[in-house]
Amino acid sequence: MKKNLQSAINVVVLSLVLISTESSPTVCIIGSGIGGSSVAHFLRSYSNSEIGTIRIFERHDAVGGRMATVTISGETFEAGASILHPKNYHALNYTKYLNLSVRPSESDSSFGIWDGREFVFKTFTSQSKLPIFQSLVSFANSILFFFRYGFSLFRMRTFVEGTVDSFLKYYKSFESRPVFETVEEMLKWSGLYNMTKRTLQEELLDAGLSPRLIQELVTVITRINYGQSVSISGLAGAVSLAGSTEGLWSVEGGNQQMAAQLINHSDVKLHLNEEVKSVSFLGGNYQLNTMKGKIYPCGITVVATPLDELKIHFLPEISIPERKLQHTYTTFVRGLLNPAYLALGSISDIPQLVGTVETPDVPFSSISVIKQHKDNDMTYKVFSRRSLDDALLDQIFSVRNETVRIDWAAYPHYHAPEVFAPFILDGQHLYYVNAFENAASTMETSAVAGENIARLILSRLTGQKHLSSVKLESFGDDAYDVHADL
Ligand SMILES: Cc1cc2nc3c(=O)[nH]c(=O)nc-3n(C[C@H](O)[C@H](O)[C@H](O)COP(=O)(O)OP(=O)(O)OC[C@H]3O[C@@H](n4cnc5c(N)ncnc54)[C@H](O)[C@@H]3O)c2cc1C
Repeated sequence: MKKNLQSAINVVVLSLVLISTESSPTVCIIGSGIGGSSVAHFLRSYSNSEIGTIRIFERHDAVGGRMATVTISGETFEAGASILHPKNYHALNYTKYLNLSVRPSESDSSFGIWDGREFVFKTFTSQSKLPIFQSLVSFANSILFFFRYGFSLFRMRTFVEGTVDSFLKYYKSFESRPVFETVEEMLKWSGLYNMTKRTLQEELLDAGLSPRLIQELVTVITRINYGQSVSISGLAGAVSLAGSTEGLWSVEGGNQQMAAQLINHSDVKLHLNEEVKSVSFLGGNYQLNTMKGKIYPCGITVVATPLDELKIHFLPEISIPERKLQHTYTTFVRGLLNPAYLALGSISDIPQLVGTVETPDVPFSSISVIKQHKDNDMTYKVFSRRSLDDALLDQIFSVRNETVRIDWAAYPHYHAPEVFAPFILDGQHLYYVNAFENAASTMETSAVAGENIARLILSRLTGQKHLSSVKLESFGDDAYDVHADL
């Protein structure tokens, strides 16, 4: 009886599969982060009737993935991806298209570099909110930076700007930008590939930066942004440094809204709380099985999540290079730091952002004030490479009213030379957005990779290599010029 039922189910599944091959294919996307939602958005924007149903599967009860918020004492903060660069044009376009608001980052916070025993560098803090005092303090801090790091600072800026300029090629019109079938091809075309073959340290020494700048400021930034040292690849390092420049921003109310709203606007069937457990290729079509015991036939399947720590079963098996993910522990504390732990006399001496250098003595990568409620009541965000237990937190903080810990499988553990998984996993219609994450992991790089995957799908479906950009204009004539508004 059970066997008959199973055969009947198989017949139904097969018929569904056959039906779906005749009309516009169903696209199944695994993952509702910025990568998966961007694929859905660009598929709808760039196609007319080539694409049928789009389904997005999300194992959690909310969309956004590594863009998420956390609530501490009733207030909401970014828990994962928090800052965007002023030239992250897809993200900027999304906020404009989706009527979201840009929230500029505060740039007047004080900063110090701690080596486990003392602050080797510390900026001045403006005690006054008057703009004139803040400008004076900011000027004095520029001089402080120059005295410590000299002209190397300008060389660092040139290095970052050169990388950003190369990255901007990914926003060129379809006519002058090919569809990329591999990550290597994509990076070679923009001139960024060689930066994935050498470490950040090697790249920066060649660019003429002093060892002191690399060991201190650059190290602090890579530890904050990627939880790793300057032995990450040059490209991931440059992207991390770009995340410390002027003009950073986020989406008011949470970056996660970009994914949520893109999905809402893209005519998507969203399956929340539905984890995909297997993807099987059945000669011309895919069958997705989920943990809910449901089966979905899909003409096209897009994996929009890192596969490294997942147990999705692929039939036939797929082969991708081994990649480790860097875990970043994010600890939020409402309370007050202990100045003695940082060898300081009073709370007002502690910089709002404490960065650290590479030394085994320091148990955290950074501590920053994300909200000052009163002089003796703050909310802090701590990044570390390992979980911080209560005993350690009680040394670091003199007051701890609320503590929230998140363990993120955050981004690839970068190393040079990088190797890349394929965008097309099986030579058919199984795609992998996060193959691009070995280049760099950001919201924008996932959006850029997602856009290329959408074009790749459409070009392989229709046989057209250069898709027309007609639909892109629905974004507005100034689609790629919105940075002027910031
Ligand atoms: C602590 C932290 C700080 C960061 N800071 C920044 C920053 O300031 N700026 C920046 O640009 N980037 C930052 N990043 C990186 C950024 O978050 C990521 O690069 C980006 O969000 C990745 O998006 P994605 O859509 O590719 O993947 P994800 O956001 O990881 O989305 C994948 C989704 O797939 C779902 N999923 C996985 N497996 C399955 C399954 N089997 N079935 C169904 N669903 C599944 C997951 O639940 C997840 O929702 C940070 C990341 C972390 C962790």
